[in-house]
Amino acid sequence: MTGLGAHLDAVRARIDAAARAAGRDPAAVSLLAVSKTRPAADVRELAALGQLDFGENRAQELIGKAGELADLPVRWHFIGQLQRNKAAAVARLGAVVHSVDRTSLAQALSRAGEAAQRPVDLLLQVDLGGPEGELGARGGAAPDDVPGLADAVAELPGVRLRGLMAVAPRGEEPGPAFARLAALADRVRAEHPGAVELSAGMSGDLEEAVAAGATIVRVGTALFGRRPLASPHDT
Ligand SMILES: *Cc1c(COP(=O)(O)O)cnc(C)c1O
Repeated sequence: MTGLGAHLDAVRARIDAAARAAGRDPAAVSLLAVSKTRPAADVRELAALGQLDFGENRAQELIGKAGELADLPVRWHFIGQLQRNKAAAVARLGAVVHSVDRTSLAQALSRAGEAAQRPVDLLLQVDLGGPEGELGARGGAAPDDVPGLADAVAELPGVRLRGLMAVAPRGEEPGPAFARLAALADRVRAEHPGAVELSAGMSGDLEEAVAAGATIVRVGTALFGRRPLASPHDT
């Protein structure tokens, strides 16, 4: 088996073990392979092994790869900061947008979803703060603003509110941060029953995220190896 196949098996085994340890059904946690900076050939190889969800964090790279791989039944996810002027192109690809943190972006996606006659599935990105509790380090809406943002997004005709997403803060144990996220997700779901997804956990902390209830883990490094170059768009 090639390196990618072995890595995929290892990551799936980690997810299964974490789900079982938490008393959860492993099938309730889906793996999003974060293919940012990786060649389209790697995506093709993983797709042949049955991995069909892929995440990108730059619109240009997503558009290019989706074009090269248009023959594959892959589902694209957008996990980076999205400019409003790229919303339509991302929406046309049918991508799930995990990183909505303001109403203006949701409105742009809604217009794009209406134009494409296909609603855009989106998640609200939550800023879990830094080690001192400061916000703004890694993108996302402040937790206190999320319920109001969810209410506003739910009114838009061209999008569907599917849940919440977050990146664990640096320099803090991920478990308590993910627990705060899960509590916020419960609150949002009480008002918006379709907001079932919790996108949390990466290569280094997927176990803690699954324990807290993640339904989507976003894994790059553990699948593909270390990224060759740190890009300014990396989080
Ligand atoms: C790059 C990235 C990931 C994957 O991180 P790894 O540590 O490489 O697994 C997950 N989520 C977001 C938002 C990212 O930008």
